[in-house]
Amino acid sequence: MHRRTKIIATLGPATDDPLVLNALFDAGMDAVRINLSHGSHADHERRIRQVREQSQKSRRAVALLVDLQGPKIRIGRFVGGAVDLAEGGKFCLDMACPLDAGDITRVGLTYPELIEDLAVGDVLLLDDGRIVLQIDELQDTKADCSVVVGGTLSDSKGINRKGGGLSAKALSDKDIVDIRFAAEMEADYLAVSFVRDAGDVEEARRLLQEAGGRGGIVAKIERAEALNCVEEIVHASDAIMVARGDLGVEIGDAELPSVQKSLIQTARDMNTVVITATQMMESMIENAIPTRAEVFDVANAVFDGTDAVMLSAETSVGKYPLKSVEAMDRTCLEAEKHKSVRQSGHRINSEFARRDEAIAMAAMYVANHYLRVKAIAALTETGSTTKSMSRISSGLPIYAMTKHRSVRRKVTLFRGVYPIEFNETCQDVHKINEGIIEKLLQRGAVEEGDVVIITKGDASGIKGQTNALKIIRVGDHMAPLVD
Ligand code: PGA
Ligand code: MN
Repeated sequence: MHRRTKIIATLGPATDDPLVLNALFDAGMDAVRINLSHGSHADHERRIRQVREQSQKSRRAVALLVDLQGPKIRIGRFVGGAVDLAEGGKFCLDMACPLDAGDITRVGLTYPELIEDLAVGDVLLLDDGRIVLQIDELQDTKADCSVVVGGTLSDSKGINRKGGGLSAKALSDKDIVDIRFAAEMEADYLAVSFVRDAGDVEEARRLLQEAGGRGGIVAKIERAEALNCVEEIVHASDAIMVARGDLGVEIGDAELPSVQKSLIQTARDMNTVVITATQMMESMIENAIPTRAEVFDVANAVFDGTDAVMLSAETSVGKYPLKSVEAMDRTCLEAEKHKSVRQSGHRINSEFARRDEAIAMAAMYVANHYLRVKAIAALTETGSTTKSMSRISSGLPIYAMTKHRSVRRKVTLFRGVYPIEFNETCQDVHKINEGIIEKLLQRGAVEEGDVVIITKGDASGIKGQTNALKIIRVGDHMAPLVD
């Protein structure tokens, strides 16, 4: 049985051992994420090369997702590395304090302009909300705060304002350099952190294209204000990420589950891919098995309809990268057996402007209602037909058959879609059908007597030309099925 929900693993020191990386390939990792918040370009490039080699060797397409750091605002460093803030005490964010000279009374900030966005009474969350400050008084260069929740505060921790609304641009100077790196590395996806609106997505796309990159743009939804213009952001993006870490800090953890459901639903309705991320198997950084709650979390993301689930520190720096992928794999597989995710009434009332989308919907209707169908094969130039298909719940595998390697890598993120290399140049329909069935047989996807749905265009090699849906029985693939 194929797992439909895709697994993205973040690379890091814990995956550097070639034996570990190979094991992740074998365990079914579909895409890798490079997190540009940590490490040097040299480290990342080495890891990317290692992945590309392994991908060649194992003949498996694996997408590369390069994730920008974004304008994460951080505090400076402390003379002694950390301080203990007592609840009820005072602490000052001081833009005039040098970045390496923090102490028990004050610390500097990497984004001094922050002061202009603040107001008395604001609640500031440090270190993912572990430390909470409230602003008592604002002066030219500093914010005097009370410590609402204390604890140990160490160097360079992140800082967010409850409710969001900080003006920092989504793309920092570092991000602009990193976009060129992503283009050079031929990233299949570029993830943009802290997008505020569709304009941020468009700017990232423009910069990536100017640098010669052709990857898709993933908008990370992790700011409160992004939730006010989700549809515009989804429309501008190839995929969105429910980035629950920073989003949870800004809007509060309790709101996250329903926000996740709506984001996934909106993305699917708008024919866009969606990734669910952060802390999915968090305890596996230290432990060989997940908690029950983590198993439920991953399964619930599957029930919500996510395309992909993501591992962060679990694989990049955790003790059990392989076991984390395996735990996700088995959890997704079991969740996918549930009836609610194998059938669909989704988009049943929609009207479609695009021919390939209409064909994709028709194919999925046939697939879900004609019991003998075993697989769907879509001849595709861009992967777009398979993306439309994969917005519809189904238990059947969708094979994206394409000669383009970049498309084969891109579709690895789409739920229920699996790439197959297909390079048929002749125009003879029977030959093409035969070729498709041959490939499916080789792959073990079908056997004699199975019924397959094929979608394709009359004019092969041209984008958006899918105009035909065929139902064929393996064994008589030269003649259409009559029954
Ligand atoms: P990050 O994004 O891991 O780059 O911070 C994900 C999140 O905020 O959830
Ligand atoms: Mn984040």
